[in-house]
Amino acid sequence: MASYKELPKTAQIRLVSSHEEVYEPCDDSFALVDALLADRTKLLEHRPMLCMEIGCGSGYVITSLALILGQEGSGVNYIATDINPHAVRVTHETLEAHGVSAELIVTDIASGLEKRLAGLVDVMIVNPPYVPTPEDEVGAEGITASWAGGENGRSVIDRILPIADRLLSEKGWLYMVTLTANNPSEICLEMKKKGYASKIVVQRSTEEENLHIIKFWRD
Ligand code: SAM
Repeated sequence: MASYKELPKTAQIRLVSSHEEVYEPCDDSFALVDALLADRTKLLEHRPMLCMEIGCGSGYVITSLALILGQEGSGVNYIATDINPHAVRVTHETLEAHGVSAELIVTDIASGLEKRLAGLVDVMIVNPPYVPTPEDEVGAEGITASWAGGENGRSVIDRILPIADRLLSEKGWLYMVTLTANNPSEICLEMKKKGYASKIVVQRSTEEENLHIIKFWRD
């Protein structure tokens, strides 16, 4: 497991591969990794056995998490999904370039994995497609699926929440990127109904958007 001093700065993640149809790490990706770094002592104490990213894109975030928590000998396993096969290939190369690995699966959210992973995921990270768009752009092929979130940017988010609830372990934590337009307080209320407490770990305003990284855990 990496010691405090050995932990990488997020900027040190190198992308060795890219693809025009794969989301390049951006302010939202950086904010999510900053939330994980802000929580790194708690994450290390949390001792997760299984960490999962939904929508891994370039692999920037899952690689950062694997470097924060360690892999060799740490007993932590990683799994990541993306609907875009090019993203899964780029993620594989990013992980490999940093000496870490994850099980990578091309699928819609966690389709085909729910039975196997039910109640087992200790840390879930999601930077979903959250931009409000016409509904018919959601799930489109390639790069459009990276941002197209449908009405209020909530179409994919609202599908992920019940799946996260089923996959998270009793001590599971979910870190999710949202935008003001997604109505984060309504998302927190939805999760509260499922028994989750929440807090904003990072809030960041850029020229284009107001991002919130929300952490959820069972109350
Ligand atoms: N996690 C990366 C990051 O933070 O840089 C990429 C985030 S990008 C905003 C959203 C990612 O989710 C894209 O790679 C996209 O292909 C993927 N995605 C969109 N809809 C999905 C779905 N239904 N199931 C799995 N992945 C999905």
